[in-house]
Amino acid sequence: MDTKIVPQNENENKTQLGPPYVCFTCGAPSTGIRCYLEFLSPRAIPKPLDTWGEYIWYLWLPQSCREAGHSARVVRLNDAIAPLAQATIERVQAALAVIAAAHGPNPKADPAASIVWQLVAGTITPADAIARIGALCHQAVVGALETEPVLLHWQEAAQ
Ligand SMILES: [Zn+2]
Repeated sequence: MDTKIVPQNENENKTQLGPPYVCFTCGAPSTGIRCYLEFLSPRAIPKPLDTWGEYIWYLWLPQSCREAGHSARVVRLNDAIAPLAQATIERVQAALAVIAAAHGPNPKADPAASIVWQLVAGTITPADAIARIGALCHQAVVGALETEPVLLHWQEAAQ
């Protein structure tokens, strides 16, 4: 069985910071953006994808884009968007990862901000975030003890 992952389209790794936004296929300007949750009927049977609805948005594209079948569906995190050809949880997570890589904080330069960003993006669980922040705190304390002779002297004096 072929398990190779096929990109959803040629725009998969593209992102935009806006608004305004443009069509990912032809560059035509979008006149607005609406959230998936706005279109959910209160009487609809809940679907697993609904829990990711806050990240799924639709660009308001010109008639020419709609007639040509250009996809209006995107994933949005703050002001950044990425195209979403298929509305599945896996594709939403993949698009969020693309946005985080393009626009999130540098994990090496700001590891705490990176953890918060991943939590907001839903790519890690709250328990993971707490564990990673705990590990950062531990590293900071150990690092301070190793590089601060004053602290070491204080520690020795206390023993
Ligand atoms: Zn278009």
